[in-house]
Amino acid sequence: MRPLANGATMRPSILVTGGAGYVGSHTVIALLEREGEYSNYDIVVVDNLVNAYSRAPNEKKPESIRVIEELTNKTIHFYPLDIRDAEGLSIVFENHSIDCVIHFAALKAVGESVEKPLEYYQANITGTCTLFEVMRKYGVYKLVYSSSCTVYGEPERLPLDEGHPTGRTLTSPYGRSKYFCEEIMKDLCTSDKKWMVISLRYFNPVGAHRSGRIGEDPSGIPNNLMPFIAQVAVGRLSELKVFGNDYNTVDGTGVRDYIHVEDLAEGHVKAIKLFQQPGFNGFHAVNLGTGTGYSVLQMIAAFEAASGRKIPYKIVGRRSGDIAANYADVSLSHRMLGWRATRTLDDMCADTWRWQSSNPNGFKKV
Ligand code: UDP
Repeated sequence: MRPLANGATMRPSILVTGGAGYVGSHTVIALLEREGEYSNYDIVVVDNLVNAYSRAPNEKKPESIRVIEELTNKTIHFYPLDIRDAEGLSIVFENHSIDCVIHFAALKAVGESVEKPLEYYQANITGTCTLFEVMRKYGVYKLVYSSSCTVYGEPERLPLDEGHPTGRTLTSPYGRSKYFCEEIMKDLCTSDKKWMVISLRYFNPVGAHRSGRIGEDPSGIPNNLMPFIAQVAVGRLSELKVFGNDYNTVDGTGVRDYIHVEDLAEGHVKAIKLFQQPGFNGFHAVNLGTGTGYSVLQMIAAFEAASGRKIPYKIVGRRSGDIAANYADVSLSHRMLGWRATRTLDDMCADTWRWQSSNPNGFKKV
């Protein structure tokens, strides 16, 4: 604990950037739900709210954070702040004794990134470098980074293990921004042995908190499969377009490694424990997935079973930049983090449906 001028001490804190978003909010609740383990830590969230809903202009906290406080009966320190704002971030580090950072804050729409590369590089790379500068200024060197299996590009082999080359055949500025940030973090770790970096490469996060009170709330028409299916099921969208059925897969449709967002969140909780291991340092990339792939048609069938609703769909042409299949080699996550995904595809669909059917408009109550 950091001593204050008046002799009191500040509690150690975990800073979560982008903590109001989908994976961020589920990680915040996973940290708060760990009875005992992190109960002497404060949770500090910074988020610029570009992708998070607040129910009123004068509401100080976005809805996801407000609901987590209600569910856990705990207080979250929240700062509406863009990570490119070095002065604002410095105030956060002055106000709290930050022990480690879990860094989610980023733009994440693959298609949009092709249209707006500068915005993506600004937010994802400049923002990340600014955060690292402020961390270094305050002597904070422990970092969990929100990376993506996108960094692998077109798979040369399956399942994808962490030794698979990265940075080749990347098709979007979004994917490149995640890859560049990983390279920057490797350089940081080479430059100074104090850095401890765990880059978690997510496969396809889906599902929602089991309470049905927080979940994925995409603005506009969803780009990703699961929220699109959920919005068709609830009647917000009329029909799913299946992008291609001529891939070399089980039924011709694209195969992905879907992982329940609560499992993913628990992966972060396990990752920060590594910082307590004596001698732990340097850059480590770790896949977070289940190791099993499901096709688009299998996802539709599972969601129909979980929701009891028919999902009308139409087969259309391939989406540009899509690959046939990817799924993770998860052995490193088992060995290194002592973590494995425990929730099934049925859990993913049932929890998505609980969230979507009780919040048809996401956090916005219309
Ligand atoms: N997909 C689809 N229709 C949609 C959205 C996605 O058929 O409206 C397919 C997509 O082609 C891929 C899979 O669903 O095979 C997962 O796509 P998503 O965008 O969710 O994840 P990513 O492609 O980034 O892995």
